Amino acid sequence: MRSLRHWVDGKEWQGTSGRAGDVFEPATGQVAARVPLASSADVDAGVDAASRAFDEWRETPLGRRARVMFAFRDLAERHKDDLARTVSAEHGKVVADALGEVARGLEVVEFACGIPHLLKGAHSEQVSTDTDVHSLRQPLGVCAGITPFNFPVMVPMWMWPMAVACGNTFVLKPSERDPSASMLVAEWLADTGLPEGVFNVVHGDREAVDRLLTHPDVRAVSFVGSTPIARHVYETAAGAGKRVQALGGAKNHMVVLPDADIDVAADAAVSAGYGSAGERCMAISIVVAVGSIADALVDAIRARTGALVVGPGDDPASEMGPLVTVAHRDRVAGYVDAGVGEGAQLVVDGRGLVVDGHADGFFLGPCLFDRVTPQMSIYRDEIFGPVLSVVRVDTYDDAAHLLSENPYANGVAIFTRDGGAARRFEREVDAGMVGVNVPIPVPMAYYSFGGWKQSLFGDTHVHGPEGVHFYTRAKVITTRWSDPATRGPDLGFPTTHE
Ligand code: NAD
Repeated sequence: MRSLRHWVDGKEWQGTSGRAGDVFEPATGQVAARVPLASSADVDAGVDAASRAFDEWRETPLGRRARVMFAFRDLAERHKDDLARTVSAEHGKVVADALGEVARGLEVVEFACGIPHLLKGAHSEQVSTDTDVHSLRQPLGVCAGITPFNFPVMVPMWMWPMAVACGNTFVLKPSERDPSASMLVAEWLADTGLPEGVFNVVHGDREAVDRLLTHPDVRAVSFVGSTPIARHVYETAAGAGKRVQALGGAKNHMVVLPDADIDVAADAAVSAGYGSAGERCMAISIVVAVGSIADALVDAIRARTGALVVGPGDDPASEMGPLVTVAHRDRVAGYVDAGVGEGAQLVVDGRGLVVDGHADGFFLGPCLFDRVTPQMSIYRDEIFGPVLSVVRVDTYDDAAHLLSENPYANGVAIFTRDGGAARRFEREVDAGMVGVNVPIPVPMAYYSFGGWKQSLFGDTHVHGPEGVHFYTRAKVITTRWSDPATRGPDLGFPTTHE
């Protein structure tokens, strides 16, 4: 069995805690590796390495920082199959989906390649006599990233390429459930010539996180995970005086208006509901069928759901893999039991699915509920599994009301052929990311990703322009070089203008 290590100061490091956790292979149910769980002292070692590396790295010319990003992008592109297979083995998602995750992560690296341009400041000439103003953005210092299990490559890449390109050093605390991908990334970054200590990986659980949140040398914390932990991270790190962005959970709705193309909408609902076994923060978990479309839409989703091939992630025939742990699989199955008990109509039942040759894998087949109501737990709670619920409403206004009551607001989608209705929806809906005939509207890397309400604590989204903003602080410099012809004292308050 493999034993993982931390990555501190440019090399693997055992740590001193003596604590370790199991990393499972969800397709077989076997333990694939052991991961060290850092003590506070281990976290301190990672932060110290990052602190020592900061002064040199912040002085490193912009072009050289950009070249590290180009080199990493090149290495990762060449070895993306290894990365995707590593993700698939520990997370369970199918390899094609893992490759998609790698590609979306690398888009942020590509965006970070443009850091010389992104860090350009502004300049105003002659704001007063002989006086000019310019602004610049400077790095913060040591930044920490704490990430969830469901995108072990992409979510860290929402953070570290932006932080590092901006001149910061970084300590990543990846999910302890699928930690190996971060180690490959660390090795490849070392191969690009990135100085030791600029990028560190410290594995762990709550103890490691809580130390990062309060460590005096950590200047900024980026977190992605469930809403209760996101709230804890935000409150603790902000209370310790740090800059924080904490992205939380979701319950994403897809509204289907009566004029929508049923096949297009059903394909989208199935792809976005069951892709990655529903373990995506942008997964669709609620389909809101408006008016007369409901019967035909449920039939179309049912037909597609029943035909999905569930199997191990490394089998090219598989469309959906297992869930990440047995505990999570059982929790999701428990929600299906609860939905039945609460009176929803279970149209497709994935419980009891056994995949040939993988009897101990953490599999659950896709489940589809119809006639779900907002009072039910399967409607209210984030399930994070392959469970899609259809809610029937009479009008657009009923659908809009559901969305306004939703405590989460990560992604939302509308399916319609009516441009006017879509335009009204996109302007009125309270959500950070909106799709029109697009079920998973994840922004490109040159925009910023983030939700509203309880899907985000803090006010800055990740990557894109807001990523640059988050990982730098602004300085404004006012400069006067007096013309010798007009020099002289002036005791007036410095106003503008003359
Ligand atoms: P999680 O909240 O359990 O864990 C996230 C991170 O927090 C991990 O690194 C974990 O080690 C750490 N952690 C766990 N418990 C902790 C505690 N008590 N104190 C301090 N740290 C703790 O999330 P997960 O199960 O790994 O990931 C799934 C969740 O992430 C879902 O809720 C999903 O919606 C959310 N997510 C959100 C986004 C987004 O962009 N909003 C993206 C991906 C995932």
